[in-house]
Amino acid sequence: MTLFEALTVAKQQIDRLDARLLLQYATGCSHTDLLARPETTVIAPAYAQFSEWVARRAAGEPLAYLVGEAEFRGRVFQVSPAVLIPRPETEVLIDLALEKLRDIANPKVLELGTGSGIIAISLALECPAVQIVTVDVSKDAIFFARNNAGRLAAKVDCREGDWFAPVAGEWFDLIVSNPPYVAEGDPHLALNGLPFEPRLALTDQVPNGDGLACIRHIVAHAAEHLQPGGWLLFEHGYDQGEASRNLLTAAGFKAAFTHPDLAGIDRVSGAYL
Ligand code: GLN
Repeated sequence: MTLFEALTVAKQQIDRLDARLLLQYATGCSHTDLLARPETTVIAPAYAQFSEWVARRAAGEPLAYLVGEAEFRGRVFQVSPAVLIPRPETEVLIDLALEKLRDIANPKVLELGTGSGIIAISLALECPAVQIVTVDVSKDAIFFARNNAGRLAAKVDCREGDWFAPVAGEWFDLIVSNPPYVAEGDPHLALNGLPFEPRLALTDQVPNGDGLACIRHIVAHAAEHLQPGGWLLFEHGYDQGEASRNLLTAAGFKAAFTHPDLAGIDRVSGAYL
């Protein structure tokens, strides 16, 4: 079996880009190798790995979980089904956070629900003056966040615990979060590989709810950990912008705003104390 033949068979079963990437991961070949030397023989163990991945991908398993990593903001993060796969729309949250941090000397930042660590690690690397604490209730997530921080040489204080519990008595200039916000009954949970992702990271686990339970909790308790003038920024669903602004205003926050993602969809809301 040659590279060309392996790719041709796979492209009949899965997306062509996914097929190419999986073949590269399985064989160690680069894209250039595939183009320049398509007649190269694929050795049996590599072909066995590739075939298994193609079958699992055809059954809906996300590519990032098959190969154990995903790229975000130009960096590679290790992932497993214990953590959410990085989404490009989360870049909006990071850009807004960096904008707020520009005006603060030695800012202290809290991130809630870190998962693989993409937000805390991106902020630590792109705003080197920042002191950042990140929290996740999942022991596995904290393991991934710590390892990713170590591999990428980011200074991040990773703590296991429930929302604000691990930061009792501590104060921050900025609190950021990409919390679970999909409603339990949302039909999207059955699509696009979401069944393979951790339910705990996607939904607020409230039967027949609106998906906002975690956001409500964060908004209700953020003031206990924010310096005067401190910002709270969080990601949310396409139809949760107005509800998010209302929650922020009702909790005493000022200048509540919503920012769209690159697709023009309401994605991040925030306000200051
Ligand atoms: N935006 C993700 C999705 O719709 C959900 C991320 C989250 O719940 N924080 O798949």
